[in-house]
Parts: sequence; C-alpha cells; structure tokens
Amino acid sequence: MTTRCIFCEIASGRQPARVVHQDDLVTAFWDIHPQARVHILVIPNQHVTSLREAEEVDAALLGRCLQVAARVAREAGIAESGYRVLTNVGPDAGQSVYHLHFHVLGGNRLRLALG
Ligand code: 5GP
Ligand code: ZN
Repeated sequence: MTTRCIFCEIASGRQPARVVHQDDLVTAFWDIHPQARVHILVIPNQHVTSLREAEEVDAALLGRCLQVAARVAREAGIAESGYRVLTNVGPDAGQSVYHLHFHVLGGNRLRLALG
C-alpha cells in the first residue's frame, strides 16, 4: 500500500501549487498558510521523509535545496532585508508533512522561535 504524499503530488504537478521554481531535482512553491509575508517551501522532487534521512540521499540534492532557497529568496526580494531557512524534523519540531521541505521565511521581522 502506498500512502498519498501531498508534496510528491505537487512536485509531479498532480496537485496545484504556486510554483516559483522547478528543475530536475527540486521544486519551490508558496506555503498554503504563510507564516510571514514571504513563505516558500523548497522540496526535493524525490520522496525523502525528513532530514533524518540525510545520510541516505545524495548530498548534491540537499545542497541544491539550499541553493534554490537562496535563489527564491533573492527573486522574492528578501535577500537584502534578511530571511530564515528552516526544516522541522519529527514530532517534537512539529513536522506535519513527512516529505523533506525547507521553509524560506521573510519579508517582515521574524520572531525568534528556537524552542
Ligand atoms: P511542517 O509543519 O511539516 O514543517 O510544514 C508543512 C508546511 O506545509 C506547513 O507550513 C503547511 O502550511 C504547508 N502545507 C501543507 N499542505 C500544503 C499544501 O497542500 N500546499 C501547500 N502549498 N502547502 C502546504
Ligand atoms: Zn513525498
């Protein structure tokens, strides 16, 4: 049995999203419930559950996610004012979608929420 993964569906175009970047490895799209003026998610196109699996995936894929995070931040106009990139891993961090994603947040002063 395969469970439905909403981010796999967005990466493959089966589920609509406000996509701002897509290449052979990575997709970036607006979060459906933005927590800041700019809130974009960057995901690997292939299914990776979370950063917990980082050692099992190609390091280039993880690097590409961060490069695309920087690029979409620049294109959204928040590179100079500043932004935050974060990923939640597992229940204590509040991960709600179990497909690795990096949040790119900015466009306003961000609250510090380090736990
Ligand atoms: P997490 O809590 O796992 O770190 O973040 C999951 C994020 O995915 C949340 O910010 C949530 O708003 C976003 N999200 C959940 N479902 C969808 C969806 O179907 N489309 C989009 N664009 N974002 C989603
Ligand atoms: Zn997935």
